[in-house]
Amino acid sequence: MERIYFDHAATTPLDKEIFEKMSPYFCDTYGNADSPHALGRKAMAAVDGARDSIASLLHAKNNEIYFTSGGTEADNWAMFGGAYAKKEEGKTRVVLSAIEHHAVLSAAERLEKEGFDVAYMPVNDRGRVEVKTLEEYITPDTALVALMSANNETGVMQPIEEACELAHQNGALFFTDAVQAAPYMPIDVKTLGVDMLSFSAHKFYGPKGVGVLYIKNGTKIGKFIGGGEQERGMRGGTLNVPAIVGMAAAYEKAMRERESNNAKLRRLSELFLDKISAIHGVSVNGARENSLPPVLNVRFAGVENTAFLYNMDLQGICVAAGSACASASIKPSHVLTAMGLSKAQAKESIRFSFGKNNTEEEILHGAQATVEIVERLR
Ligand code: PLP
Repeated sequence: MERIYFDHAATTPLDKEIFEKMSPYFCDTYGNADSPHALGRKAMAAVDGARDSIASLLHAKNNEIYFTSGGTEADNWAMFGGAYAKKEEGKTRVVLSAIEHHAVLSAAERLEKEGFDVAYMPVNDRGRVEVKTLEEYITPDTALVALMSANNETGVMQPIEEACELAHQNGALFFTDAVQAAPYMPIDVKTLGVDMLSFSAHKFYGPKGVGVLYIKNGTKIGKFIGGGEQERGMRGGTLNVPAIVGMAAAYEKAMRERESNNAKLRRLSELFLDKISAIHGVSVNGARENSLPPVLNVRFAGVENTAFLYNMDLQGICVAAGSACASASIKPSHVLTAMGLSKAQAKESIRFSFGKNNTEEEILHGAQATVEIVERLR
């Protein structure tokens, strides 16, 4: 069997159909979208179309969609932009969950160095922030609340609507990182009420290096990347036209196929879990009933995850210990330790994340390899 890929939460392959749609914008329609001549106008028309399509799927207005270089930039912009905007009103507290992605956490660390009072909300042992925790953490001087829509290591979805309402009752802005959740749940920014929301194309079979920050009209967020007057003067930098076109096409396709993909992914992850549950000392990290369909985080007691990953890799199976950004390091996951696992237990945990192109045969083969490797390593 060729290589098997079970690391879709890290990234997904670019869909060939999406690649075809991007292709003309590399060598033919290569104009700078801000150039007033014909080639520029053609490029801008493609960008406008992409913006309209993403806006309509998110139930947003097209002038609320800002293109970025990916989830990390969008997250940084939301965190700094939100905190600085409210500082002008004298609000200096930032509340976020302890399980945010490093793109959000690192911004929070910098805000703390700049004098913000940063508070990290704990999660319960199932990986979810409880609304009553936010009630305890939020104060009238809270500038910004950040809570991801779903966690990238456990797949556990978070109570966004309730948290957003609480943030607003306290006069704070609310930001959600929907990078992991976006492919699997329909997003309606109006119903959610969020002020800012980020996502990234490479999680739904689109290109890498492009993402979106939704900023609700009327939110006083300043620019994050200075430069030209692109993105209505809010984000400098020549627009990455092929990537933007690809992101919109990939998001449309992900939403069109969402229900059937979700059903397949749920079936595949249940099948995998069923096949590995014979292993002694296996446990699932995070609330299964509240998880994104493709993500399965499991702990094999007594088996160090680096050795497991190495052995899986030797067999051509790609999986991860946690977030892609942290997997080169062997630090225990901050998400799992926040859920109450010890450092040693966190280092016995593996994230399997399945994709729409995985087959049942791959699941069975991967599960069999998992059983054998765990037995061997013990
Ligand atoms: N936020 C979450 C929850 C993620 O999972 C990731 C990527 O893994 C990011 C942000 C960063 O997105 P990007 O890779 O587009 O910079």
